[in-house]
Formats: sequence, structure tokens, C-alpha cells
Amino acid sequence: MTIPGGPGGNSRPDSAPLDFIREIIRNDLESGKHSTVATRFPPEPNGYLHIGHAKSICLNFGVAEEFGGTCNLRFDDTNPTKEDVEYVDSIIDAVHWLGFDWGTRLYYASDYFERIYQYTLGLVREGKAYVDDLTADQIREYRGTLTEPGKESPWRNRPVEENLDLFERMRRGEFEDGAKVLRARIDMASPNLNLRDPVIYRIRHAAHHRTGDAWCIYPMYDYTHAISDAIEHITHSLCTLEFEDHRPLYDWTVDNLPVPSRPRQIEFARLNLTYTVMSKRKLLQLVQEGLVSGWDDPRMPTIVGLRRRGYTPESIREFAARIGVAKRENMVDVALLEDAVRDDLNRRARRAMAVLRPLRVVIENYPEGQVERIEIPVNPEDASMGTRSVPFSKVLYIERDDFREVPPPKYFRLSPGREVRLRGTYFLKCGRAVKDASGEVTELRCTYDPATRGGSSPDGRKVKATIHWVSAAHALDAEVRLYDRLFTVPDLHDAEEGRDWKSYLNPDSLEVLRGGKVEPGLDGAAPLSAFQFERLGYFCVDPDTRPGALVFNRTVPLRDTWARTQAQAT
Ligand code: ATP
Ligand code: MG
Repeated sequence: MTIPGGPGGNSRPDSAPLDFIREIIRNDLESGKHSTVATRFPPEPNGYLHIGHAKSICLNFGVAEEFGGTCNLRFDDTNPTKEDVEYVDSIIDAVHWLGFDWGTRLYYASDYFERIYQYTLGLVREGKAYVDDLTADQIREYRGTLTEPGKESPWRNRPVEENLDLFERMRRGEFEDGAKVLRARIDMASPNLNLRDPVIYRIRHAAHHRTGDAWCIYPMYDYTHAISDAIEHITHSLCTLEFEDHRPLYDWTVDNLPVPSRPRQIEFARLNLTYTVMSKRKLLQLVQEGLVSGWDDPRMPTIVGLRRRGYTPESIREFAARIGVAKRENMVDVALLEDAVRDDLNRRARRAMAVLRPLRVVIENYPEGQVERIEIPVNPEDASMGTRSVPFSKVLYIERDDFREVPPPKYFRLSPGREVRLRGTYFLKCGRAVKDASGEVTELRCTYDPATRGGSSPDGRKVKATIHWVSAAHALDAEVRLYDRLFTVPDLHDAEEGRDWKSYLNPDSLEVLRGGKVEPGLDGAAPLSAFQFERLGYFCVDPDTRPGALVFNRTVPLRDTWARTQAQAT
């Protein structure tokens, strides 16, 4: 029998070793345990998806694609008070944007509420579930600890008829929130706390974003999740490690209900990324307290945030592939994510010149009123992208940082008497700096060498640096937003005891530069279009851009060779 996918399958290089999940799946297909693979991505619609979810999406959809199987998108919408259609819509958009397609396989756990209720009636009839009148606090107290067994509830041995009657009345809305719960009758002495008669239904008089007021009892997440997987004939239910201890309850559920299939739960390590948070609860807090501009703030690790930052779906999928899937928790350096987007944008992004902190340069020997067109490759990595024509004239802007009155060692850019190459064209020699009353340099008076138009000198003279520029008369104004890490510490788990995690927010995570000057033509670019601003980094057009008011986000800086030399020197 040939197994689709695996090595040599869809998007996997032949040489790539299989991770432990793909190994299990391949074995299950080879042994005939399963004839096909069915996975699902099961978000709870209580927030926007983040890069951690992207890992799970790439895994579930990726595995299905590689092994010729299917992947469902299923909303695990069991908690009406925290969920919202806004989140449902954003999740659908995010998964699509990442490049995955579930076809008609879009499901909601809430669509199974009636079926789950019917299954549960069966459980009650078999004496495997009972209505408990203990309060939430009492239930917690009776549960015991890892070292002490639990204590049975006085209601644990209610007759089946009474349980059935009470459960039906719970459903009819006869009781207040919290007055009663339905518990699975498993084992109060189990070493696994999740098996000490877990609550499987609670009363919530709350409207649900899909079922409205049809229900006032809601099945609990763990219970619902296992049943939903079984109803959908999921073969491999992939989830994160914190559910390892819940697996016995998952198995108990599918073993004790007449569900149509018996899925297997497999846990993998969740993604943790340095300098950020990955919990929806915390991300929601940042949004609600206005500490970021919204879920799509480009500093957020959300899919919408990364997208607005300029990340491409390809770069996120590549990142997921590079980090792989393993069984042990770890912390992934955000630099890996940045490398993935750099590699992708290097191939994809058009080049442009942009001066973020402009310094005026007057070329004294350049003819007044003359404008030349300099042809520069759109992307030197891809000749098929052609060239662009950039206007050149007597007055330019260059980056302030590309001039030093007193150059430090190994600084080869402009300083009085020093000659450099202007990107794509002439050599430029610095004459003198003009200063204002406070001593600040306001303008450089320079000269150019007309014989160096092609970027080299016929007399063999060399320059050691090339700097970028824009023609002052032609440049467009732009606001440029520079982003840095959201937090000042790589791992918030190491936060000082008692210190609020939000106090670790990086106060310099956003720097807005209002006086930027960019190459003409960039005003035609659609929102989110990517550019490499030469020598600076990758940027994208922010959706805040309006006619005459360009806004760019810095996705990621280029690897900065000057900073590296500096760091090595010290
Ligand atoms: P959070 O902890 O951020 O609130 P969650 O796990 O509660 O996330 P769900 O909507 O339940 O959010 O997650 C949907 C799927 O994504 C689950 O299968 C979950 O295991 C997976 N997932 C969530 N966070 C991560 C992560 N950091 N890395 C990998 N997978 C994740
Ligand atoms: Mg969850």
C-alpha cells in the first residue's frame, strides 16, 4: 500500500525527517488502523488568533494536506459570555489569509448542543452522571489535591430518576446560574484530578452568539471537545501539552458515549515566543486598557497584527515549518520569526529609497533645474521585476546618520572631504556642513563627479560606502512607524514576583517619525504592499495611509552590519 504524503508528499522536501506526530500518522496509515487522516483546528471564538495558533493551524492543515486527508475548522463555542461573532469572523479571515482552505468543513460545537444533550441523557440513565447541588467553592474543596483523595458529594448517589428530572429541569431554566451542575460520575479517588467527577454541564442564563436563548445550560469545554471530535470522525486530535492531563477525560468521554468514532488525542508543545505574550486573556487586556491601538496593532503577536506589520502568510508558514513540532515546552527566539519574513521579503519586496531622518544636501556643481532619471533594479534578487526610474537633481535628502562631522574609526560614510557613492549613480564628495545658531547641521554643501554616473570612476578611484538618497523636489512626505519588541524581557515567566506583567511593556516599542521623505511613485501602492527601503529594512504601507499622507510600518530592519561592527568593536 502506498501512503500519500509523508516524505515526498505535498510540500515536504524528501529529506525532511518526520516529526513525532507525522510519524504516528504515517504508522497508523501503514498499519491500516486508519485509511485516511482527519484533523481539525478548534479555536474558541473569544479573541483574535495569534502566532501560536498559526503553529497549530499549520500543523493541522499541513498534516491533512501532506497525507491526503481533511482538516475541519471548528469553533469550540461553549462559553457564551466570553465569545462573540466578531471573533468568529476574525478567525475565519485569519485562517484564510494564512493560506488554508477548509472547503465546506466549517463546524461549530454549538451545532451539536442538542446531540450532546441527548448523549448526556444516556449517560445519566446509565448512572454515569449526576446532578450536584454543591456550590463551585464546595466542589473545589471536595475535589482534594494531588496528595489527598477527593471526597464524594452528598448528591453523588442520587437515584437515576431524580437526576434525569433535575437535569431536564436545568435545561428548562428552572434554576439559577450556579445552583446546580451535572457531573460525570467517574472516580473521586483518581490520582488524576480531571477524573474526580468533572463538571460536564453548567447553568448559564446567557444568550449565545449562535444559539441565542435556546439554551441555558452549556456543556463544558473538555467534554464538548471530545464529543465534537468524535462526531466529526477526527482521527488525530492534536492539541497543546496543557491538555495532557485531560486526555483520560477525553478518552473516558469517547469510551462512554455512543459516539460514531474514537479519535486519539496527541499533545505537542505550544509555541512561546520571546518578548511577547501569547495568551488571549492578556492580549485582550492590552487591547481593552488601550496599551496597544487594537488587536491589529503591529506590535501584537496576533495574525492581524503581524499582517499589518507587513508579515506575509508565506513567512509565517515558513516560520512554522522551521520551528517544527516537538513534545517539550520551549521558548522560541523572535529573531527566527524575523528571519523568516526577511528571507521572504528579500525575494518579494520592491526596493525603494526612503530617508527617515532627512539631511539636505546641495550639490554645488550640479546644473540648476536639471533632472536626470536613474535606472535602478526593482529587486536585484529578481531580474524579472525590471528597473525603476528615480529622479535625480541638485538638492537631495540623505539620512542624517550618514554624515558625521568627526567620523569614528571604520565609519566610511560622509564627513568633510570624504567621497561616497550615491546608490545607483554618482560619487558625491562632502564639502562643508552648514549649521544653525545652535550648532546643529542643517545642510551639507557637496560636489559630484559627472564622470561617475554609472556608479564607478573611470580613473579607478574607489569609495568605501554607498548611501541612499531622494531628490528633494520629487520626494513624497511620509510618516514612518518604527516598532520594537513589545516587552523589555524575553520571558515574562521570569518576571519578578508580585510585579505586574504590564510593567514590563517596552515604552519604546513604537517610534513615530513624521518627517520622512520617500521616492516618488510610492503613493500608488496598495495598503500592506511591501518595500525594502534600501539599507534600512522592510516596510509596508499602513492602512492609515490617505491621499497625500503616506504611512509606512517597519516590518523588520535589515541585518545591520554597522551595528554589528560597533558591537564587535566594543
Ligand atoms: P490562549 O491560551 O491564547 O487563550 P487557547 O488555547 O485558549 O489560547 P484556543 O482557541 O482554544 O485558544 O486554541 C485553538 C487551538 O490552538 C488549540 O488547539 C490550542 O491548543 C492551539 N494553540 C493555542 N495557543 C497555542 C500556542 N501558543 N502554540 C500552539 N498552539 C496553540
Ligand atoms: Mg483553549
